[in-house]
Amino acid sequence: SEPLPVQMITVLGATGSIGQSTLDVVRRNSDRYRVFALTANAQVDRLHQQCLEFSPRFAVMADPVAAGCLRQRLRESGCATEVLTGTEGLRQVAADAEVELVMAAIVGAAGLLPTLAAVEAGKRVLLANKESLVMAGALFMESVSRHNACLLPIDSEHNAIYQCLPHNYAEPEGRAGVRRILLTASGGPFRTTDLESLRRVTPEQACAHPNWPMGRKISVDSATMMNKGLEAIEACWLFDLPVSQVEVVIHPQSVIHSLVDYLDGSVLAQMGNPDMRTPIAYGMAWPERIDSGVEPLDLVKVGRLDFEAPDRVRFPCLQLAFDAVATGGTSMVTLNAANEVAVDAFLNRQLGFCQIAELNREVLEQLVVQPADSLEQVLEADRLARDRAGQLLRSDRFGWGIC
Ligand code: NAD
Ligand code: MG
Repeated sequence: SEPLPVQMITVLGATGSIGQSTLDVVRRNSDRYRVFALTANAQVDRLHQQCLEFSPRFAVMADPVAAGCLRQRLRESGCATEVLTGTEGLRQVAADAEVELVMAAIVGAAGLLPTLAAVEAGKRVLLANKESLVMAGALFMESVSRHNACLLPIDSEHNAIYQCLPHNYAEPEGRAGVRRILLTASGGPFRTTDLESLRRVTPEQACAHPNWPMGRKISVDSATMMNKGLEAIEACWLFDLPVSQVEVVIHPQSVIHSLVDYLDGSVLAQMGNPDMRTPIAYGMAWPERIDSGVEPLDLVKVGRLDFEAPDRVRFPCLQLAFDAVATGGTSMVTLNAANEVAVDAFLNRQLGFCQIAELNREVLEQLVVQPADSLEQVLEADRLARDRAGQLLRSDRFGWGIC
């Protein structure tokens, strides 16, 4: 039989949790994929190691000092990978004509411009970086259709929904049959913690997720359920649905990754062991299926599947996100930016866990909602929200140990 054409992939955020899982899928399917570029913020050791294993054409370090360091290390190891730096370097390797697939797995707003560069170059974009869609949903989706990019969701919930939607969802008749989508949520590590103790939880406790090992930012988002709020916003943009057709259900086992509820009463779910290599492999090989290294699901071992309604008192961030979609405009950019500042402060023990939601709420209340139709408007709203969140953090009302 004919050898398969080899596809070139750029992995943005290669050193992170999603990046490493992506490279594991590449490793298992080395006959189909070759790495064009790997990128990271400042983790020189890990990116160096990855360059030695995958021999990419380019490695990009967002941080220029780290880039110099990596360049030196690669030269010493006799590795021919060329080192670039900064947002320009990230955009370049996301848009290069040789690249077919771009894994967008940078965390936070830093992922927006490189991910948009991949979209504008018409790539197959594997979207893990939900924050870019939350910030710039309207212009992001408009750009996808204008440049004929292929956008495949990697967030496990959205990947599950993508798999469960009708094949003709893009047409009105297909769309009409869908009543709503159900996003499942594990509830995070503090689903049953008593509300008093919740005030004193530490970053270490917040980052110990029961079902999935993930980066620190998304782990905290998972503990506050802001992650599910961001995912509700992400779902509205990806599937062009009003937020009234998006629901959240707590499912502690994380075996059902999300569901689509049809008008005739059918409910389709996508299931599997909680391992991000499944949605990653799906996105890479679509519409085919490849080995991801994930163990087959043993339903007998799982034993039972539980469901409950999310507790809106325990998880105020969830409501903030639903309200932000309803408000529209820059409110989603504002919420995302405030939350990035708040989570960072919590991780550095400058803000109590329960104050993450309070800081987010206050920034949303203080800033005027503007249109978010252009990149300039989005970036300006992001900057304003970060500034305001920073000011509030420096006030004596917010801090570690203040609740
Ligand atoms: P992570 O913290 O483990 O990795 C983040 C990556 O981004 C690293 O490679 C880091 O070097 C890079 N990075 C960080 N700041 C940067 C900057 N300023 N400029 C350039 N690069 C930068 O995060 P993760 O858990 O892999 O998550 C990545 C994205 O995927 C997030 O948007 C997250 O919400 C999403 N996601 C993750 C999971 C998961 O299971 N980990 C699941 C669904 C969605
Ligand atoms: Mg998710």
